[in-house]
Amino acid sequence: MDNVYKIDNLESFAQLLESCNKVLLAGHVNPDGDSIGSLMGMKHYLQSLGKSVVPVVPNKYPQFLGFLDPDMEVLPYDERKEDVESAVSGADIIICLDFNSLKRIDALGDVIASASAPKVLVDHHPQPDAVFDLKYSYPELSSACELVYWVVKGLVQICGGALPLAGGVALYTGMMTDTNNFSNSVLPSTFMMASELLQMGVDKEMVQKMVFGGYSEERMRLMGHMLSENMKMVPQYDAAYMILTKAMKERFGFRDGDSEGFVNLALNIKSVKVSAFFTEGDDFVRVSLRSKDDFSVNRLAREFFNGGGHERAAGGRLFMPVDQVEEYFIKSLGNFIGNGSQA
Ligand code: 5GP
Ligand code: MN
Repeated sequence: MDNVYKIDNLESFAQLLESCNKVLLAGHVNPDGDSIGSLMGMKHYLQSLGKSVVPVVPNKYPQFLGFLDPDMEVLPYDERKEDVESAVSGADIIICLDFNSLKRIDALGDVIASASAPKVLVDHHPQPDAVFDLKYSYPELSSACELVYWVVKGLVQICGGALPLAGGVALYTGMMTDTNNFSNSVLPSTFMMASELLQMGVDKEMVQKMVFGGYSEERMRLMGHMLSENMKMVPQYDAAYMILTKAMKERFGFRDGDSEGFVNLALNIKSVKVSAFFTEGDDFVRVSLRSKDDFSVNRLAREFFNGGGHERAAGGRLFMPVDQVEEYFIKSLGNFIGNGSQA
């Protein structure tokens, strides 16, 4: 089947790949399904070309994504500093997936910035940094996994090789999680990709079970608590928010990834156009933002939350005590909507 989504200038990528053997793949902090899916999808394809591939991330991914990495090949920088540093300095090429600024990979950013290998960006976020030598930036695509799928299809035609089934499973998973199970940012090309992957043999029921059926009891109880006791409405700005404190994490036996997707819940309320989820951490409060209709959380995140992201899914960080977050959020919405920069 012909490519339904054509990626420009893949010849340059193919040329770089042909002249190298050691490939470093980098993913973003707090890796999600799209991050691990795109790393593993690309990894499996490049291995089919005989390349030696090391995927690295700033910190560990949540447990439920472990099925994409059965041999634990993805190296978290915070636990495997030396291994990651030697992989970066030995790499012939560095491919950055599902992020577009070295700020998004914390301390790993300095390590990669000082590497001499050419850096290739394969990503779907707007406003990419200038540090990359070659850019495949497609913000209109559903997910980095979908982009990797079309990039790989194009590369197969130039370099040969093939996407093995495990790579297909990884790409399907990341596309599914980043679109919130086919509800956000899906294009005809997204369904084409899904269709081709199912034809290839991807077991969608297995993926569904691993992603949405692998939760702990603690997560479900925390979700119930957040919805009934914690969610607050800001009707004057069509907004809702939840704040997860360290004390609540302890009470509910919180593990990384347990609050994944909670930010989407309030958007199911008819009147809510923007939803925020704040998580208290050791050094800062993590901010997650989602919206519908024409509300740009990318701009809200950039202007008020030290972050960025997509038009309807963005995030950032707040450097303030968690008990000041509520007031800051409401004030920020007022300034944002009041100054007419919402569109
Ligand atoms: P999430 O809410 O799932 O953590 O992130 C949603 C989106 O916002 C993702 O596409 C992610 O790339 C972006 N994002 C999250 N946190 C940050 C941040 O601190 N900085 C930037 N630039 N983008 C972020
Ligand atoms: Mn993504």
